[in-house]
Amino acid sequence: MLRHWLGKSLSKLLVGVCAALACLPMTGTARARQDTPEPAVASGASCANPAALFGFHSGFWVNLHHFLYAGAVAEASRNGPHPSRLEAEDTAPLQHLDTAEGSAWNAAIAYYERSVVSRDLLFDQGMGEIKNQLEDAGDSTDLAHTDIPAALKAVLLRAAPIYRKYWWTAQDARNHRWIAAVQPLVAAHGTAMCEALANIYEQAWPAQPVRVDVVGYANWAGAYTTLDPVRTTVSSALASYQGQAALEMIFHEASHGMVDKLTAAMADAEKALDNRRPGASSLVSKTLWHAVLFYTAGQLAARQMPGYVPYAEKNGLWQRAWPAPDRELIARDWLPRIEGKVGLQQAATTLVDDVAAHAKPSPGPAAAG
Ligand SMILES: [Zn+2]
Repeated sequence: MLRHWLGKSLSKLLVGVCAALACLPMTGTARARQDTPEPAVASGASCANPAALFGFHSGFWVNLHHFLYAGAVAEASRNGPHPSRLEAEDTAPLQHLDTAEGSAWNAAIAYYERSVVSRDLLFDQGMGEIKNQLEDAGDSTDLAHTDIPAALKAVLLRAAPIYRKYWWTAQDARNHRWIAAVQPLVAAHGTAMCEALANIYEQAWPAQPVRVDVVGYANWAGAYTTLDPVRTTVSSALASYQGQAALEMIFHEASHGMVDKLTAAMADAEKALDNRRPGASSLVSKTLWHAVLFYTAGQLAARQMPGYVPYAEKNGLWQRAWPAPDRELIARDWLPRIEGKVGLQQAATTLVDDVAAHAKPSPGPAAAG
């Protein structure tokens, strides 16, 4: 079910990414094309200590917020074509609530259903600010210093004792198990992954550490990252985010804070393409850079952990989001960048040109019927 939901929602999210990218300022001067690889980015200092790359948290308030959000989405989608659901271990406690607790909890879910879930956790800027505030609230008992809308604060404060009584201990323990499982992987592979990403994207590790808040259910995609500051929220309850996949996905998420040069190189490549073939860049997905992120983190993880199947391959993401030939073209044109054989701009230009050349033009009115 989640997959269906994921597939439908993904296109919505990617449109959002696309719209955000379209707002990126375009410089008037073309960047110099790099025909030879750039020297390695001086990232050794920031990548050297793997224990300093990520700061993992399991916070009460941000967990409550995401759990109510996920519960409201599940409620709202119950009769829809793509219902989402919570794990049985998260719905079982509902039967133990007494009447007063049940009505208070239902009121909180209803508030989220009515007033919150229409706002995307990632693309609604206000939702990112609410999340950051709740992360920073730590173990506050009254959210007195938390700057969020008063109605939302009141809902959270009323739901908090119920959540603490019936869910928090188990969900906090699940989060800590997830953290304990990924930390040895970061210790073993983190420095290599960090250095590789910094070299490939020519951009340093985004923060020291990158804050990762672990919650039962992050968003429909399983994890998301807000920028300025770079912070990741990741799901501990989803099967697709367990084990070695957790390592790939936290590095994928962190790389969202390292893509300024990649997106600029792709924008330059599209501009050059349009100069040669007016309008040709419209054949290139505006989220091609995100496909590159998936491919890159997946390849790096597989190199570190022999036999590992990258997230996008295992979960059918290529077929849903970037169907053939994009996956094959990325493998052909971007792999030399991962291996340090070509420069960032050259790899981006080759990939953009190839994707446009292989794209199937959408049929016009004359071809209809
Ligand atoms: Zn991503």
